[in-house]
Amino acid sequence: MNIVTSYLTNNPCYKAGRKIAVKGLMLHSVGCAQPSAKVFINTFNKSTYNAACVHAFIDGNTGTVYQTLPWNHRGWHGGSGKNGSCNNTHIGVEICEPSGIKYSGGATFTVTDRAAALASVKRTYGSAVELFAYLCKSYGLNPITDIISHNEGNKKGIATAHCDPEHLWNGLDTGFTMDGFRRDVRAFMAGEKSKIDEYTDIESIAWDLNHRGIVSDKHGLIDAVKAEPNGRLYWLARKALHYIRERD
Ligand SMILES: [Zn+2]
Repeated sequence: MNIVTSYLTNNPCYKAGRKIAVKGLMLHSVGCAQPSAKVFINTFNKSTYNAACVHAFIDGNTGTVYQTLPWNHRGWHGGSGKNGSCNNTHIGVEICEPSGIKYSGGATFTVTDRAAALASVKRTYGSAVELFAYLCKSYGLNPITDIISHNEGNKKGIATAHCDPEHLWNGLDTGFTMDGFRRDVRAFMAGEKSKIDEYTDIESIAWDLNHRGIVSDKHGLIDAVKAEPNGRLYWLARKALHYIRERD
């Protein structure tokens, strides 16, 4: 995943400098046929622009994530409803929409270049899955319960009456849904974790540490652990190896 930091330092929301305890993630789409994140950044990064401010835009042409606010900064992305405001609890991320659609009013659009539009939407979906997996890990969130769309936030009474991004996915017959998105984030997180199969047997641990040049006497380590099979040295060796492999 490619993340470019591009904070909206001129936007009044950035200047307000309020922090939130992150409790969830909200997915949006921009609601106009504009795939370029930079166009939105240019519009939002003005001291006179006080309509909105979000944490990131995902570019429709490249899938690059442009982070526009620190993640724990209070954004202006979802407004509020009868139960409060998602801005106080949620990180808000915008998917840029493809140029191959044309809005005819509200959330309705016609498709002018279906192949290009689908390619763009798949690209932004993939980046969003990866970004949300990263944010779930960073903030200890459950992807199944803690990710919502703007549309779902409205139904929960914590956001304004918008229907993004489902209207985009449905309008293009992509088959993407928020339930599917949440499952894809969970699967991505599990896949990332399973890259590291933790060793538990001391022969493997000693071999790996020896192979890396960290332990010079492999048999000495094995003997010492076998003398106290569940002792501190065993757990320390496991933990150290896990830490090193995670950073590989
Ligand atoms: Zn929205």
